[in-house]
This record gives sequence, structure tokens and C-alpha cells, in this order.
Amino acid sequence: MPRYCEIAVPVPLRSTFTYAVPAALDGEELVGRRVVVPFGKRAMVGVGLAESEVAPDVSRIKEIAELMDPLPALPSKLIELGHWVSRYYVAPVGETFRAMLPPEIEIRQDRNYSITGAGRAYARQLADTPEITDQEAAERKLLERFDDATSVSSARLRRAPGAEALAEKLVRRGCLVARETLRRRKSRAQKIAAWRAESTDTPADDAETRIRDLLTTERGPLPLTLLLKKANVSRSVIARLEKSGMLQIWEEPVTAAEDPWDTDFTPPANVLNAEQSQALAEIWRWIVAGEFSAALLHGVTGSGKTEVYLGAVEAALSRGKTAIVLVPEIALTLWVGRLVRARFGDRVAVLHSGLPDIERAREWWRVRRGEARVVVGTRSAVFAPLENVGLIIVDEEQESSYKQEETPRYNGRDTAVYRARLEGAVALLGSATPSLETFHNARAGKYKLLTLSSRVENRPLADVRVVDLREEFRRHHRAAPISESLRSAIAVRLEERTQAMVLINRRGYSWSMLCRSCGVVVQCENCSIALTYHKSRQRLECHYCGYSIRPPKHCPKCRAEYMYFVGDGAERVDEYLREQFPHARVARLDRDTVRTKRQYQQVLGAFAKGEVDILVGTQMVAKGHDFQRVTLVGVAAADLALGRPDFRAAERTFQLLTQVAGRAGRGELSGEVLVETYYPEHYAIQHAARQDYISFYEKEAHFRRVLHYPPFTALANVLVRDRKVENAIRWSRALATCFEPFEKQGVKVLGPAAAPLARLRQDYRFQFVLKSPQRAALGKALAGALDFCAAREIPSTAVIVDVDPTSLF
Ligand code: ADP
Ligand code: ZN
Repeated sequence: MPRYCEIAVPVPLRSTFTYAVPAALDGEELVGRRVVVPFGKRAMVGVGLAESEVAPDVSRIKEIAELMDPLPALPSKLIELGHWVSRYYVAPVGETFRAMLPPEIEIRQDRNYSITGAGRAYARQLADTPEITDQEAAERKLLERFDDATSVSSARLRRAPGAEALAEKLVRRGCLVARETLRRRKSRAQKIAAWRAESTDTPADDAETRIRDLLTTERGPLPLTLLLKKANVSRSVIARLEKSGMLQIWEEPVTAAEDPWDTDFTPPANVLNAEQSQALAEIWRWIVAGEFSAALLHGVTGSGKTEVYLGAVEAALSRGKTAIVLVPEIALTLWVGRLVRARFGDRVAVLHSGLPDIERAREWWRVRRGEARVVVGTRSAVFAPLENVGLIIVDEEQESSYKQEETPRYNGRDTAVYRARLEGAVALLGSATPSLETFHNARAGKYKLLTLSSRVENRPLADVRVVDLREEFRRHHRAAPISESLRSAIAVRLEERTQAMVLINRRGYSWSMLCRSCGVVVQCENCSIALTYHKSRQRLECHYCGYSIRPPKHCPKCRAEYMYFVGDGAERVDEYLREQFPHARVARLDRDTVRTKRQYQQVLGAFAKGEVDILVGTQMVAKGHDFQRVTLVGVAAADLALGRPDFRAAERTFQLLTQVAGRAGRGELSGEVLVETYYPEHYAIQHAARQDYISFYEKEAHFRRVLHYPPFTALANVLVRDRKVENAIRWSRALATCFEPFEKQGVKVLGPAAAPLARLRQDYRFQFVLKSPQRAALGKALAGALDFCAAREIPSTAVIVDVDPTSLF
């Protein structure tokens, strides 16, 4: 009986592909397995979704080339989840499953070259020409490596300098053809070097002596890379020693190194208070019941939600179940990961995109094999390959970082709730400032509600003072990056020897560069957005596409030389604080200063230990951290987000202010918060100042209901984009006609209109906003639109569908 398998291949198409199963794979289960398959001219890694005994068009069917792992990468529940994500978010099925698989560390894209008729003719011609140039001689030499039967891989070509580039040139001239292949790579191992004890030879020079001492008396066997660095020698020295038999080198799998961040840590021994115990007792009941439930843990900042999470994980493990803890930021995987590991040891794995591929793959497979039973991670950890899941926690569930802003555009929180439903597990969403959607669900009884209404040990919430920047300016008549009120409050903290944090939610030194003479703003060449000035690098940079230039001396439009910078970012605030307080220890946390896990640990660790007095940063500093000696939090330009044409602007502002205010006064010292704004009377700012979530919710929910926005309406954003503005316009018009019939089925279609970012990465962009009280109707309209595009040959990359967008900006 022939066998066929439906394979999800990572291409932007909304279907799977049928492949034949070769006889060599008889008896192998293919569902959930990663396979290598030929696709067009390439080889790709896909995953088996279903087997069958019939195929649509047997004559054109290709065979699976290779099976990758000994066990299925995806358990059956995850296959079901993948289908749901693909359907709900109208995302290509192959790309959706690609997001669920481990990084492909064991394979490498390679190219295989073979010679063409034209190539053979050219080689003959060169052979017959008596005098040829050096270049031609090199070409001839390369072409002569080929006969009709052999092909040569790029890996082999790379051994001779320049050969690969030359081969590519010959491909462009039609003398060679190249095919993409996948090659296995042995990178799961590292080379270890040791000194051969039986060797009686003596080192010939200083370098060799250094190596011997390191490998014998000082350290013992070392990874080769470390040895090269420590001994400060070149590879050739090592090769020489290996050849002469003094060194022995072998391969070992890479294993997790001990991280001092974890090992030097003693977790606090907290006894749960009444509210925490009550919440945990409820969660225990749900976990014991062993069926799906979703709940919101609404706890003010500093109410000790983390302790409840830990207890909930304990409950799940004690029932033989597994657990996932999602956090919104890589930085938080450090804090939360450490606490969870301190409690549950080796059973914990950490997964996030900041890990090197090798490390991520290692952790992923540890989870898949069942060695780790608790996963702490960011968004994509919702797809952690655990089986028998009993609990999924989503900390700070309102965060927009749970939404993936590329295909598949899923929301990790909503996916977590759906996964919990599939697994019969408990979904626990925690927040001090729940999203409107989640709180609405809790009020409507769809989610259970647990409340922690006060801070641990009844510590007071910090006092919030709103600083009216208009009045500040009237009084002091100068514009500084932070207000005089905030400056003097920081001075007090420095004297008291407590700590201060300053949040400024913009990277860079200045937001934009403007010509005083004609008013033009220096814009990105590829995007309709102002370039941000970064002083340390002396560049104007686009935060969307990475385009950058030196700051021009003259206006690009009118040539006047009166260019000046507008708006202060984190880099400027940092510099200003150092000027004002030359003796203070100032550190900055934003994507310009920290990029790696190590750097995060350094900055946050130093602040936690009291080695830093003032921490300046973007929203990275706002979330979740628990610092005990912070008594002042300042928010510079708190109303930045309010200026955006976005229905979530007020919600975002309220959340950010409440979150950052929650960083103050968490220890035994009480805290104060200063919020700088030009709109002191705005309700988002007023309610945040009072830290009154319920009143904010009621006001905001009223607007959302009246204006038909989530949670009262399902929303989708459809973008049409192309390099050529004519195409973008034509396709938008076509789509508009396609949407028309759906208006009668309860889908309101707004647009097409120029998108708020009308140009991005050289693409012109038009936008539709679709709203419907019925999600099913919305889904039909979106699927209909994509079918329409496929039929009209509108490229699938030109249309972006975003279901439940976190922003319309
Ligand atoms: P949040 O609700 O803001 O996430 P955390 O979980 O970070 O709050 O807890 C805030 C602080 O309170 C932490 O330092 C934690 O160790 C401490 N804590 C938690 N529970 C208790 C308790 N029952 N008694 C005393 N301290 C506690
Ligand atoms: Zn740009």
C-alpha cells in the first residue's frame, strides 16, 4: 500500500503539501515528525501532519528525503493547536508550524553546483586558447573540477579561497547551476582539548608551554575555543601539537553551564498572607478537578502574585502535570526563571529568543523528552512541547509583547487560553492592570476572578504626583530633559542614599532633527517616519528599518544650516543626569545599552545590589522588576503614547504609568512617583495617578462600546503593500470590492485609507479596518479576501492580515 503524508512546509501559502513516503520509512510514524523534503529547487524542513493512502495527483508527487529526529517533535495536542492558530489568525499553515518547531541547528543550507552545456563549452574554449588571463585560468581550473556526473558543494568549494564567489559568478553566466540542499551539521558538539599524559615530548616554545600548563597544572582539559582564548595562541599551534601527538582533541556534546546568576541566589522564604492563600486554594481546587478553566489573578503591584504562581506550579506538579509560565520580556525570564528554578531545580527549562540557537534547541529537546516539566519563557514558549499540561500562567497578560508582529500573528495570551482548553488545564492570567478584554471576560463570568487587593505586609501603594509641564515651563522658562520637580526629587534620594528610576519611553538622544528655516523633518528614505538622533554613534537612525545617515549639516530641502534637534530620548536624559549629579552612579537600560542576557544581568544585578543610584530606561524598566530600595520613580514625557492615533493609546498609557508606579516603595521604604505631562487632566493620567483600575476600566469600556472597539467588537486590520504605489492602490481597490458583499453579513469595513505609517521599508501601505460583533463573520471575510487575492494573482506577501491587532498604528 503506498503511503502519503501531508507536510507543513514553511512557505507563505495556505495549504499543506502531499509527499510520498519512501519504502525506507516503512513502519515509521510520521505525524509530528520533522522531515526534509524537496520543495521547488530547494530542500526544506517540514513537519508531518497527517497520513493517507490516497493522493490527489500521484504522477507529480515527490518523496520525503529524510527523517530528522528519532521522536516526533510535536505531540498531537500541539498539532491541533497549530491548526487552530493557523485558522484563527488566518496564517499560512507551514509558517505557523515553523514557529512551533525547535531551531534548525543540525542542518545548514548548502548549495550544490553542477556544470551546464554552456559551462562545458566555455571550459573547452579556455583550454584551446593559448594565452588566458589569471581570472580565466581560475575559471578553467574550477570548471575542470566538474564532469557530467559530479556536483560540488559550497562547503567543499569554501576550502579554496575565492572559489565559492567564482562559482556564483559562473552561475550567473549560465556555466554552472546551483541547487539548494540541506546538510547535517555536527554543531551539537564542541571540541575538547587535553594534553596527552603519555607524551614525553617537551614543548618547543613559549606558546606550547603555555598550552601544556593550562591543560595540566592550571585547568585540565578545556573546550578548544576557550583554550585558544586563554592561551592566546593561533589554531596552527594547536594543529601542530595535535599532529605531533602531544595534544588529544575529541568532540563532546555541549551541556548547560552553571550560571552564577542562579547559583548565588537564595529565594525569599515568604509565608503567604490571607489573600494569597485564598487565591491559591482556589487554584488548587481547579487543578485537582483536572478540567479546563481560565482565571484572572488581578493583584495590585507588589501584592505578591509571583508567590501565587509558584504555589500553582507546585499544585500542577504534585498532580503529575506539567506547567508553563509565560512572561512578557526576556529580562523577566531572568527574575522569574531564577525563582522558579530555586524552587523546582532541574525540572525547569527556560525558553526565549534571546538564547543562542544551540542553547534554545538543547532546552527545547529537554522539554520534549520530558526531562523538564516546567517551562518559563516568552511568547513562543506557549508552544513548549510539554505533554500533560496542567497549568499555563500568563504574567502581565495585557502586554503587547505577547502579540507576534510577524506571521503567524498570534497573541500568546489567547493562544495560552486555547491551549489550556485543549489540554484540560488551568489558564491563569495575572496582572495589576488587566487588558480590557480580559477584565471584560472576568466580569462577564467567562473567566474566574481572583483578587489581591493590597500589597504584601500592607505596604502602601506609592504616592503619585502629576507634574504639569506647562506650569513648569511658565515658572522656570527653560526646557530641560526632565522637570525641575523631578530633578530636585532625585537630589533628595541621592542624599538619603535610596534609589531612583526614571522612565523615558523613547530610545536615542533626540526624537527628530528639524530645519528651523523651512520646518522640514529629516525622514527615513524608506519609511514615512522621522529619524532618531543617536549621539554616541553620531547617526540619525530609523527605528523601523535600520536605515541610518550622518546628521546633515544643511537642510536636505532648503539647504539652510539651521538644523536642530527636537524631543529628548533616554540617551539625552542619561547624559543630563550625569551632568546634574556628577557623583551619582547612573545606569541606562534600553535596547542601545543592553542586548544580551549577560548585559541584562549586569545592569539589573548592579541596581538590585545597590551599586547604581539612578536607573534610566525605556519601558524595559517598567515591567515586573522587584527592587527593594527604590523610593522614587519619575516618568518623563508620560503622555507620549496619548498622541498616537490608536484606540489603545489611553489603555497603554494607564498601564505603563501604573506599572512603573508599582516599582516604587516595594520594600520597607515608602515610595513616590512623579508623572510629567502636558495633559494633566486626561483620564488615563488621572486614574493612573490614583492607581484606580476599576474606574479607569469603566470609563474606557464606555468609549470602546460606543465607538465599536474590542472587547465589544472583533477587530482585524488588513494591510496592502507594495514598492509601487500604483500596485498598492490597485490591489486595495480590488479588495474593497471583494469585501463589499460581507458588509451585508455584519462586517463593517473601513477603508482603504493610507496607513498611519504610509510608507515602511520602501513599501507604500494602505489599510482596511474590519469590525464585526460576530467573530465567525469576520473570519469568513478575511478568508474570502485571501482566496480572492490568490485567484486574482495578488501576491500573498502584499496582503497582511492581522486578527485582534494590538494597535492600528
Ligand atoms: P507583584 O504582585 O507585583 O508581581 P511580587 O510577586 O513581585 O509582586 O512580590 C512583591 C514582593 O513581595 C517580593 O519581594 C516578594 O518576595 C514579596 N512577598 C510576596 N509574598 C509575600 C508575603 N506573603 N509576605 C512578605 N513578602 C512577600
Ligand atoms: Zn526606515
